[in-house]
Amino acid sequence: DTAMYAAKRSGRGQYRVYSPELDTQARDAELRAAVANNELVVHFQPVVDLSGGGNMAVEALVRWNHPTRGLLMPGAFIELAEETGAVIPMGEWVLREACRQAADWPEPVWLSVNLSARQVMQAGLVDTIRGILDETGFRADRLSLELTESVVLQPDEHTVARLSELRAMGIGLSVDDFGTGYAALSYLRALPVSVLKIDRSFVTGIDTDPEAYAVAEAVVRLAQAYKLHVVAEGIETAEQAACLVEMGCTYGQGYHFARPMPGDALTDWLAAVTPVPAAG
Ligand code: C2E
Ligand code: MG
Ligand code: MG
Ligand code: MG
Repeated sequence: DTAMYAAKRSGRGQYRVYSPELDTQARDAELRAAVANNELVVHFQPVVDLSGGGNMAVEALVRWNHPTRGLLMPGAFIELAEETGAVIPMGEWVLREACRQAADWPEPVWLSVNLSARQVMQAGLVDTIRGILDETGFRADRLSLELTESVVLQPDEHTVARLSELRAMGIGLSVDDFGTGYAALSYLRALPVSVLKIDRSFVTGIDTDPEAYAVAEAVVRLAQAYKLHVVAEGIETAEQAACLVEMGCTYGQGYHFARPMPGDALTDWLAAVTPVPAAG
């Protein structure tokens, strides 16, 4: 007991670094240093064609290989990064690293990268992305960017112009976590998006609960009415996948098909499946 107490006391400085009371500024500094020190890692999760099982796209998901806490999931740091703006250098790092690795993938596999609201609001966004594509040799028409509903909800004219410019370059745009924010449907018309990613919360229970099924089906119909491609997120069972196929949902992503994995594992995974033409 005495030994434990001593250990706890001596480790207190370290413990404090991760205590909720620690001020945002210090955690922000730690996060920015992590980007600079290459402590971030990109994992990749396939998006598959639900009817044929072929591969359609691969989503890049950031992790933080923390020197003392181990591999951290975005849930542990993304919100803070978004708050402080650290998500801007972080997002840039993820895009560069993902494009660098994806340049070696077989065609026509798409790379999908999450873009935070902060990044989308940046005046220099298009130049940054153009620079990364030049630098990595990754083709714009194989890149897709995932936007959250908070971006789609109230895009100012500059945001719309930036997104249109990206679209004109051949970059695909998706609405991520669709249905979890305000269903600002009118904005779907105003923005050059081509894919809706239905949030996992709509997929859970569709195989057992008729009401969940009906709601998911309505969302799929909605996407179809807007002539958008649909990706269902968070598919964990074959039964859920079958329900989605029945509804006419074309693409899916989830643990049932593949978990997010490091780049070398993804390369092996891609070698074993048939690539399908990307939904543009
Ligand atoms: P997201 O973009 O909606 O990504 C899907 C999340 O669902 C991922 O969590 C993925 O691992 C998880 N997932 C996939 N299939 C299943 C499944 O079958 N069951 C369950 N329970 N979960 C599944 P992850 O990697 O923890 O990322 C969480 C969120 O963090 C992402 O949600 C995205 O919003 C954000 N994020 C991740 N990487 C980045 C990034 O580079 N930049 C930005 N701005 N945000 C990122
Ligand atoms: Mg996403
Ligand atoms: Mg998503
Ligand atoms: Mg989601």
